[in-house]
Amino acid sequence: MYEQMDKDFVLSTYARNYVNFKQGINATLYDDKGKDYIDFTSGIGVSSVGHGNARLANVICEQAKNLIHTSNLYLIEPQAKLAKKLAFLSDLDMATFFANSGAEANEGAIKIARKYGERNFDNKKYKIITLENSFHGRTITTVKATGQKSFHKPDFSPYPDGFSYDKNIKKIYESIDDETIAVMIELVQGEGGVQPFDKKEIQELSSFLKKKGLLLIVDEVQTGIYRSGEFLATNLYEIEPDIITLAKGLAGGVPIGAVMTKHKDIFEPGDHGSTFGGNFLSTRAGLEVLDILESYKNSGLLDETYLYFEDKLEKIRLAYPTLFSEHVGLGLMRGLRCVDAKILTKAIESCFDEGLLVLKAGKNTLRVLPPLTISKDEINEGFKRMKSAIDKIS
Ligand SMILES: *Cc1c(COP(=O)(O)O)cnc(C)c1O
Repeated sequence: MYEQMDKDFVLSTYARNYVNFKQGINATLYDDKGKDYIDFTSGIGVSSVGHGNARLANVICEQAKNLIHTSNLYLIEPQAKLAKKLAFLSDLDMATFFANSGAEANEGAIKIARKYGERNFDNKKYKIITLENSFHGRTITTVKATGQKSFHKPDFSPYPDGFSYDKNIKKIYESIDDETIAVMIELVQGEGGVQPFDKKEIQELSSFLKKKGLLLIVDEVQTGIYRSGEFLATNLYEIEPDIITLAKGLAGGVPIGAVMTKHKDIFEPGDHGSTFGGNFLSTRAGLEVLDILESYKNSGLLDETYLYFEDKLEKIRLAYPTLFSEHVGLGLMRGLRCVDAKILTKAIESCFDEGLLVLKAGKNTLRVLPPLTISKDEINEGFKRMKSAIDKIS
């Protein structure tokens, strides 16, 4: 009944599975028939503190009873606190603009880079280099920033100028020209296939750009907020980018995006804005999520969880060498490279039938992004289901 309603009234942009979830407890979801599913997706990296998190639910409730929104014309206390907390946890001297999504955060990053390029050089510099297989969002500009041809459909053209794509980090050096202002990268390509870049290569690129006075933008929409095991993948790679974007896990499911930059004076009133961005509800939720995850990390539990998870996933790869060629990723963003795309489709369906939610990335990667608070029992149960799902197709 609701499936038909959805088909009749909601625009069809997703290849939807019509399971009807009713409840969630940490990394376990329950559908309308009472069947349970272990969630290795966390709503694509969003439900960082799990489903039905009582602390998060309580602060959202309390905040909603007082103020949800007043507008950015007035001081928003939790917004200021969240911006300070982001600087503190990242250990970076940066100021933040709040938006509502990853794409919007990247739009902000692109605007910062363009203004920087306009103001700081004799000639206009506006070009941004990104990487093949990157993913930066779905707005007209961020889809153009995304280095995947299939996303640049002629149906939506013309796209904005000033974006080009390189095959790998090494190629970037040759592509920089007199109009280049920035390089925008993910440190671990998420949608592109859970592909981490080499730390040394990234550090070299970072210092090269610094020497040239050009900007490094790191899209941490997926890798940020402890997904990599550290607060930011930037911390793991030990670099200091000019601009960092965040979204997915930052407020545990309340829509939020953030662009942080060390160029704190780049914007003046009127340069950029957002009606909803940084409102009381989303920033209060963000503060609580960071509080929960900060102590989770400091207590050692996060590291324990991702090591436990890594070990279990590696055992799956070893058990099925004819299906999976490689175990990729880090922290709690991981994948198994399938030997072909057909096996991947079958594996995802079979996992679903067994009560396990997993994702696809790139052409042939089975991707897992569990809530960071997933319990050992849930990990054990999830991998038990993965094993029987794979047994059924192999
Ligand atoms: C998900 C994602 C985005 C887009 O975020 P939205 O909130 O869907 O706009 C951008 N960059 C990366 C790396 C992502 O993973």
